[in-house]
Amino acid sequence: MRIRQLPENLINQIAAGEVIERPASVVKELVENSLDAGATRIEIALEAGGVKLVRVRDNGSGIAADDLALALTRHATSKIGSLDDLESVRSMGFRGEALPSIASVSRFRLISRTADAETAYSIESDNGQLSAIRPAQHPPGSTVEMHELFFNVPARRKFLRAERTELGHIEESLRAFALARPEVAFSLTHNGRALVRDAASGQVPEARVDAMLGEEFLLNSLRIEHSAAGLHLHGWVGLPTASRAQSDRQFFYVNRRLVRDRVVAHAVRQAYADVLFHGRHPAFVLFLEIDPHQVDVNVHPAKAEVRFRESRLVHDFLYRTLHEALAQTRAGMAVAVPVGMAGMPLATGAAGNQPTAAWLGNQQGGLGLRVNEQLAAYASLYGGAERGTLQSPMILADADGSAGLSTPGREEIPPLGFAIAQLHGVYVLAENAQGLIIVDMHAAHERIAYERLKSEQACGAIPSQMLLVPISMMVSTREADAAESHTAELAGLGIELGRSGPQRITIRRIPVVLDGADVERLLRDVLAEFSQHESSRRLQEVQNEILATMACHGSIRANRRLSIAEMNALLRQMESTERSAQCNHGRPTWIALGMQDLDRLFLRGQ
Ligand code: ADP
Ligand code: MG
Repeated sequence: MRIRQLPENLINQIAAGEVIERPASVVKELVENSLDAGATRIEIALEAGGVKLVRVRDNGSGIAADDLALALTRHATSKIGSLDDLESVRSMGFRGEALPSIASVSRFRLISRTADAETAYSIESDNGQLSAIRPAQHPPGSTVEMHELFFNVPARRKFLRAERTELGHIEESLRAFALARPEVAFSLTHNGRALVRDAASGQVPEARVDAMLGEEFLLNSLRIEHSAAGLHLHGWVGLPTASRAQSDRQFFYVNRRLVRDRVVAHAVRQAYADVLFHGRHPAFVLFLEIDPHQVDVNVHPAKAEVRFRESRLVHDFLYRTLHEALAQTRAGMAVAVPVGMAGMPLATGAAGNQPTAAWLGNQQGGLGLRVNEQLAAYASLYGGAERGTLQSPMILADADGSAGLSTPGREEIPPLGFAIAQLHGVYVLAENAQGLIIVDMHAAHERIAYERLKSEQACGAIPSQMLLVPISMMVSTREADAAESHTAELAGLGIELGRSGPQRITIRRIPVVLDGADVERLLRDVLAEFSQHESSRRLQEVQNEILATMACHGSIRANRRLSIAEMNALLRQMESTERSAQCNHGRPTWIALGMQDLDRLFLRGQ
C-alpha cells in the first residue's frame, strides 16, 4: 500500500483509542474540562451506564461562539501556549485532544455561553462532521452531550461491559474528583434517578470525605499534614486495623490530580510494612502539593501517571511522613478499633491467630462508630500533651469535643484505665473513664517486645544475658551452616552461639526480653528466617522480621495468669509504645466498649 496521510477523523479515532476507553473516561475528561473552566457546579446525567448518554453541564467560564469549532479540533487548547507552560501546567487538561477524540467516536453536542455573551451557541458533530454554529438556550457555562459511544467503532463497542459495571467506573471516577474538590458541588443521575447530589462543602474537606467514603473512614484514620523540602502532604491515612481486602480506597493526588504512581505506591507500602497484615490494603486519601516544575504530567495519554523529577526525594518524604504518623497508633490514643456489632459485641473476638471478622469486616454497626467517637473525644483529652510534644509530622486528632469528660478527677485515669480482671488467660479487662477496655494480652505484649527490640537495636545493641547453663541443641546441617555464617548478625540481635558439631550448636547468650522463652524453638524460627531470606532482601527488612519472631517468643503466652499489677504495667506500656494499637501482624490489640455502648446492648434507657 502507498503511504498516505490519514483523514482527520481517523486520526481522532486513533487518539480516542488511548484516551477514551469507556464511558468513565468520557466523564473524566469532561469533568476535568469543567474544573479547568472554574465551574462550581457540575451536573452529570447518564443513560445506560453512560453508553447511550453522558451529559456534563457546568457553570464555568464557557466558550466563545468563535471558538466552538476550535474546541472540537485536534491539538486545540486554551490551557498552554508554549513548552514553558507545559512544564508548569496546573490545569487538568493541556493536550487538546479530549473533545475531538470523544466527538470522533460518538454523536456529540456542545452548548456554551460565556458570562458576557447575550446568548448561548451550540455545535454538533456526527461521525466527525461538524455542524454549523447555532444560537441556543443556556445559562453561562457549558453542556457537553455525548450520545451512543463507539456507535461507529463496533470493535470497541464490544469491549464495553454491563451497564452496572460501566456505571461503577463512573461513580468511582466521580468520587475521586469530589474528594479533591470540596468547593465544587457535584450531582449524578442515571436513567433519571439521582445517585449523588452533593452540595459544595466549602471550607470543610472532612464533610466531603465523609459524604464520599462514609463516616467510618474518617473515624478510622489519622489526619496528616506535613511540609518539608518544598513538598506538602495532607489528608488522611487509614489505621492499620481498618485495612481492607482490596485496594479500593486508595486516593493519591498530585496537585489535585489523581495519579497512579509506582514511587508513591512503594513509599506507602513501606510505611505500612510494619503494621499491616500481609495481603491487606490500607485506605488513604492523600494530597501531595509540589512545584509543577518538579513533576511531569505529560507522560500518559489519559494523564493518569506522572513522573517526579526527584523521585527519591518524593519517595523518602512520603515514606517518612507516613511512617512517623503510623508510629503514633498507640493503644488508648486516637481512635479505637470498631467493635464488631450486630448485637453481639464480644462474640466476634479473635479465636486463634487468624484474622477474623472482628477486624476484617468493615462494620457499619452504629456501636462501632459510637465507640470511636468517644475515643476521639478521649484522645483530645489524653492525647493533648502527647501531641504537643510530637515532632513533625503533625497529627491533627479528629477531636470533636469532649462530651462526658468534664467530670473533675477523670483526667487522672489513664486512657486504657486500670485492670480489673483477666479473662480465660487471654484478655485483660480494664475500666477507664468511658467504660470497659479489653486487651488481647499476647498481641499487645508481642508489639511491645517488638518495638523495644527494634529501638534497642537501633541504639546499637540489644541487651543480652549469659545463660547460666548454655543450651546445646541438635539442628540440621543446613541450620548449623546458617547459624555459623550469621554469627555476627546474630550477635547484633543479642544471640551468641557457636557450632559444637556438624549438627549441633550451643547457645550461650540471649536477649534479656527473651528471658523465660523457649530458646530452642525461638532459635529454630530465627534460623529458618535466615535461610529463607538468604541475602535476597535488604538486611534491615529481614532483621525486622527476625525481631518480630523473637518478640513473639518473648511475649506472654495465652493462659499465663497475670497479677493486677502486671496487667496495669502492660496497659501503661501499651500507652507509651509506638504502634501498639495493633500487633505485629496488624491485628488490633485492644477494643473499647463505652458505657453508652453497654447501655445500648442492655436496652437501657430505651
Ligand atoms: P484540553 O482540556 O486539553 O485543553 P479538550 O479537548 O479537553 O482539551 O478541550 C479543548 C478546549 O475546549 C479547552 O482547552 C477549553 O478551552 C475548551 N473547553 C472544553 N470544555 C470546556 C468547558 N466545559 N468549559 C469551558 N471551556 C471548555
Ligand atoms: Mg480537557
